[in-house]
Amino acid sequence: MEKVTVVGAGLAGMTAAIWLARQGHPVEVLERRDGIGGPARDTEMGERTYVMADGTPMDLEGLARYTGIDISPACVPLAGLRAYVFGKRYDQVFPGNVRMYLVERGSRAESLDMFLYRLALEEGVRFTFNAPVKTRADFDRLPPGTILATGLFRETFEALGIPHTPVYGWFANRLVKEGEVPPALIYIDEHTWDYAFFSSVHGVAGALLFQRGRPLTQAAKEWFPRRLAEDEGIEFEEWLPLDIGVLPTASPRNPRLFQERFILAGTLAGMQDPVLLFGVHGALISGVIAARARRERHWALREFWRMNLLWPLSWLNRRFIELTFPWGLKGLTRLNFELYPYYSRYLTRYVLAFIPGWLRV
Ligand SMILES: Cc1cc2nc3c(=O)[nH]c(=O)nc-3n(C[C@H](O)[C@H](O)[C@H](O)COP(=O)(O)OP(=O)(O)OC[C@H]3O[C@@H](n4cnc5c(N)ncnc54)[C@H](O)[C@@H]3O)c2cc1C
Repeated sequence: MEKVTVVGAGLAGMTAAIWLARQGHPVEVLERRDGIGGPARDTEMGERTYVMADGTPMDLEGLARYTGIDISPACVPLAGLRAYVFGKRYDQVFPGNVRMYLVERGSRAESLDMFLYRLALEEGVRFTFNAPVKTRADFDRLPPGTILATGLFRETFEALGIPHTPVYGWFANRLVKEGEVPPALIYIDEHTWDYAFFSSVHGVAGALLFQRGRPLTQAAKEWFPRRLAEDEGIEFEEWLPLDIGVLPTASPRNPRLFQERFILAGTLAGMQDPVLLFGVHGALISGVIAARARRERHWALREFWRMNLLWPLSWLNRRFIELTFPWGLKGLTRLNFELYPYYSRYLTRYVLAFIPGWLRV
């Protein structure tokens, strides 16, 4: 069987690698960093280790059928979410038919990244670390059909000429004791046209304020730590600027499965990215589509567009928010949270359950 190269040992890249190895291909994954999920791989938190829990709605059984990978051991169920929307608090309980989960990201043993890594090793996937593919010349050396799954890192977007938007972050994390902090909080406010998020899983808590397209102001950087402390009594010793990278939300036509001689996967492919909460789910599905695209081009293209059906709508929603910020965001989000208890059951039963690529994979 032909050898396949995958660039990027993240969620999409490792899912693709596992799928291809199971088909009998020798697979090599090239990863820029010195290990999975970041610089530190010990159980204590390294100085600048990015450890955070991503919250995501998932149909774990459907996902397992689609990918052949049961990720449930790496998922912690999340019953609800506390939201602060322009200063007003909402305690949202997710309806029974939406299953939300927290998954740890990063380099610790409990993370989803490490879960996939162990599986990939069992399947015989070879990893080469400290192997960045960055310049145009690096890309030209890759064999045709290489799967690129480099996430939010900007080099690939630049080398392949894919429109992208920078993402600015303000981040803190620390170890916490069981029950010390809530599992998930979200803040929506005039300080960012995206949102701020706090999450905690497996004894680690992370807080991230971010914004696409324009840097965070000093007032925003002071606002989020202050709100966390005053609303929830959560404090961090140190906050750091985080260069999150870029997102492909710059163009309504951005999602792409093929580019030049390459197959794209995960965030780089634009997979379901406009709604960040679909990111984990989208990356896993996308890994399978990219892996199968090598032999089943038509099937893969059909699946890819089915999964990205909502992209233009989401892009329009985004533009509306940016053009009318902060009033558009305030109006839409407040209305959404006020009405959520009334419509959520119906929404999930009659609308969300039919969105391809999410609950119905
Ligand atoms: C601020 C923010 C918050 C988010 N919150 C959530 C959330 O709550 N829920 C959710 O579902 N999703 C969330 N997401 C999205 C989610 O993180 C991504 O969708 C998911 O990680 C994408 O997987 P991936 O495989 O494309 O990229 P990644 O998992 O990031 O993997 C990319 C890999 O490629 C490697 N790499 C990069 N460049 C190179 C190179 N040049 N050469 C070699 N290797 C390279 C990287 O080191 C990394 O290992 C969030 C994203 C952001 C930006």
